[in-house]
Amino acid sequence: MKKVHCQHCAKHIEDRGDLVVVQKGIWGIEPYHNTKCYGAVAKGLSGLLVSGPINSKVNRLSIIFTAIITIVAFFLNIPGVVKLVVLFYLLYVVSIRAWSWFNYERHLST
Ligand SMILES: [Zn+2]
Repeated sequence: MKKVHCQHCAKHIEDRGDLVVVQKGIWGIEPYHNTKCYGAVAKGLSGLLVSGPINSKVNRLSIIFTAIITIVAFFLNIPGVVKLVVLFYLLYVVSIRAWSWFNYERHLST
């Protein structure tokens, strides 16, 4: 197991309950302490699309919601390019989430 270090205070993050993964830019993600550090840095973050925690329940719901919209879009009579954009957006949010899990969450105990 690799150790996950907070980007704010550089200390070791112990468990998933204390982990907040935040998106930075288009592909960047960074881990922070939930209780001590996230609040302190949240205001200064400039996520392009999502600046909230990406390992949160709200984010999980929004991925499910995006998936539903994508499925619905494929049954609608709309231009193919729109369907493609919707599909790529879904792949994007899912891969950011998977990247967060792969990089940080799987290394921590719950
Ligand atoms: Zn910290």
